[in-house]
Amino acid sequence: MPRLLILLTFPPEVTDQYRSRLSRTFPEIAIEVAATADKAVAALADADMLITFGQMIKNLKLDFAAARNLKWVQALGTGLDGITDQPALQPGVTVTSLHGVHGAPTIVNNTETLAHVPGILRNGAQWYRDLGIGKAAGTKLYSLSGDVLRPGLYELPMGTSLETLVFQHGGGMLQGKEFKAVFTGGPSNTLLTKRDLDVAMDFDSVRQRRSRLGTGAMIVVSEGTSIVRKVAEYVSFFAQGSCGQCPPCKGGTFQLTQILNRIDTGRGVRTDLEALQNLCRILPGSGRCALIDGAVTVVESSIHQFKEEYEALLTA
Ligand code: SF4
Repeated sequence: MPRLLILLTFPPEVTDQYRSRLSRTFPEIAIEVAATADKAVAALADADMLITFGQMIKNLKLDFAAARNLKWVQALGTGLDGITDQPALQPGVTVTSLHGVHGAPTIVNNTETLAHVPGILRNGAQWYRDLGIGKAAGTKLYSLSGDVLRPGLYELPMGTSLETLVFQHGGGMLQGKEFKAVFTGGPSNTLLTKRDLDVAMDFDSVRQRRSRLGTGAMIVVSEGTSIVRKVAEYVSFFAQGSCGQCPPCKGGTFQLTQILNRIDTGRGVRTDLEALQNLCRILPGSGRCALIDGAVTVVESSIHQFKEEYEALLTA
């Protein structure tokens, strides 16, 4: 039976509350408390799986989730507490972030991570590692969409090639269409092109192609699709989604959208392309969350991969 370690790192009075609540909710799971780094490491040696509740333990050389410090988690926490749900510069200590949602034990993780848990518990950590290649353990979920015959959600071993995902699992391109590119990680990420169909999709290999695997949301586009128009649509989506508290984000996404639309409709000039590249240099990191960085990433990658398309649309 795989052994699950739940690591509680709250102050003692909170830990006691959590332990009794967790024991009542999950009587079949042994819950351990490890309040120091040494105890946590020792307990982890026998455990197949670790779930943490509470704060990071100082100097612990393990990658425990510090979810409280993630901007979107802060926004979620403040929203649940009835405070404006916007990312903050400094992590705020809210009722939810201290005591969990409605005072109950709470785990914050993305659904992909949680989806891996049953398989690992059933078959063990080594089984999961062996599914992947090298340092990239296990599997990856791909949400495949766009101009493919069989869009859908696919779970594939790490290191599966882009070609296998699109042409084997996705059934290839829609009738009469030819593969042009894929937006990896949805609209806020990078592009891979025909030249990259052979790439083994693990984080390092994709990074070597100046791209990123990101969320695994793969939007396939075919020859005949205007990359500039697609990017203009995506950036416009970000401009509408900006919550507006950081001027560089509000103004920057608006400016990017304006320039992209100008180029897309044949009214752009060379200085517009230069302005886009300048904005891509100055905007990253200027917001309280990653929205602005996502908008810039897709613009930058599209110029890198398809600069000739931008240039062909310029009038002077
Ligand atoms: S970067 Fe944009 S979306 Fe994020 S907090 Fe600032 S204004 Fe809001």
